[in-house]
Amino acid sequence: MYCPFCRHPDSRVIDSRVAEDGTAIRRRRSCPECGRRFTTQESVILMVAKRSGVTEPFTREKIVRGVQRACQGRPVDEDQLAMLAQRVEETIRARGLAVVPSHEVGLAILGPLRDLDEVAYLRFASVYRGFESLDDFEKEITALRGRHLDEPDDDVPAARADGKHGK
Ligand SMILES: [Zn+2]
Repeated sequence: MYCPFCRHPDSRVIDSRVAEDGTAIRRRRSCPECGRRFTTQESVILMVAKRSGVTEPFTREKIVRGVQRACQGRPVDEDQLAMLAQRVEETIRARGLAVVPSHEVGLAILGPLRDLDEVAYLRFASVYRGFESLDDFEKEITALRGRHLDEPDDDVPAARADGKHGK
């Protein structure tokens, strides 16, 4: 590995340690030519296996592109999409596998997307899970409403305030 300061073609490892989450190794290196120190990181390149059998490297950009269409016209910004992609990557890396089937990547997207925007989630889920009828949507919407009831801070109290659900 070239020294990033003087381009000397060799460097000496002076310390190796596993990163906090256990998915990478960091090496502290020293250049024998200029004496400066730098750090390198080694991690497994996460591969995604598509249904066709082709594998390709996992990238957050692909996750963002994959959900962007579902988010069209929704109040979702780039930072939120980047955060979502990060959550997806963390979920997948936590499995500790070098190759992950693409449908598991899709599954890992569903939760964070639901938290981000429910309409985008419905759009994405309808394609990903292959919704074929209104019933499929209805079931999913019922499940989403059920989640709202479980969250006391959500808009349920407001609905009660208008009297419709009062005693
Ligand atoms: Zn150097």
